[in-house]
Amino acid sequence: MDYLVSVFQHLTGSQPPDSHALKYTVLHLQAATEVLLKAALSHEHYSLIFNDPLQATKEKWKSGKFNSCGILDAFDRLCNVAGLKLDAGHRTRIKDLTEHRNALQHYGLKHNAYAIESRAARVLEFLLDFIHDHLIPGLEPHEAERVEESMDSFRLQLKAIETLVKQRMNNLRSTLAKFADVTVQCPDCEQWAMLAYNGEEGPRCLFCHQIWPNDAPSGAANYAWIILGQDEVTAVQDGGDPPVVACPECGVSALVTEAITAECRPQATGLCFACGNTFGHLVDCEFGCGTVLNISPDDVEALRICSDCIGNQFGRD
Ligand SMILES: [Zn+2]
Ligand SMILES: [Zn+2]
Ligand SMILES: [Zn+2]
Repeated sequence: MDYLVSVFQHLTGSQPPDSHALKYTVLHLQAATEVLLKAALSHEHYSLIFNDPLQATKEKWKSGKFNSCGILDAFDRLCNVAGLKLDAGHRTRIKDLTEHRNALQHYGLKHNAYAIESRAARVLEFLLDFIHDHLIPGLEPHEAERVEESMDSFRLQLKAIETLVKQRMNNLRSTLAKFADVTVQCPDCEQWAMLAYNGEEGPRCLFCHQIWPNDAPSGAANYAWIILGQDEVTAVQDGGDPPVVACPECGVSALVTEAITAECRPQATGLCFACGNTFGHLVDCEFGCGTVLNISPDDVEALRICSDCIGNQFGRD
């Protein structure tokens, strides 16, 4: 709970928070998450917070001299052993938070103030619910009362942070409305403010100012992995299609086949991050070469074979 007090102090101190405040936001938010998940896990059974539960003894536990499990192990054990229903999206956020914490010492901050604020708000939202649903019920009455007192102030402060985020999004609303067909959720701040296509410059997020300069393919891959949870290796291993393919219009490998834009949500559409075209009728080349074609279902005459395969098959000189 002390870590959480510190996170809120750093996030709500100066606006926008300076790099010192952002650093301690990331460090203490990660520490708070780890301690709170493990506290809930130890309510289930103390051995579960040991890295290897089979090595657990009451003596080691009481002395605190043991290797404890990692933060994601704690999350997974809460789901799999304790049977809590925790959203997989929170696991991704906690993973990213931990990687950011680890990289901080060596590389400095990975995200800017707006992205950290927006992401921290989501983790805090999860933690406050988690404390309420899974921690307080297991506490002694006098402890529970003390925690509830801090919770009231935490909720108010979280509201204030969320209001800031909302206000910034409101200021962008009219600009974003003009680009609804190419606006997607940003992998950095998770706001619906990323212009997947932004002319020659490459994708950019209007909320957190993240840019992928002249690099539509990495913007597309980043988006598919963080927002859609699809990466090339797992997709192909599972026998599916890769999430990012070559665009039938411009040829660049920056076409996300199942993008969700502000305009078409909740439906998915093909969206090329390099030329900004959307594709409603993507089909695979029937020769299985992995090329996608955009063919309307009304066009019954169309060959569902790409030009390369036609060339190879019918000997084009
Ligand atoms: Zn962003
Ligand atoms: Zn394209
Ligand atoms: Zn083909």
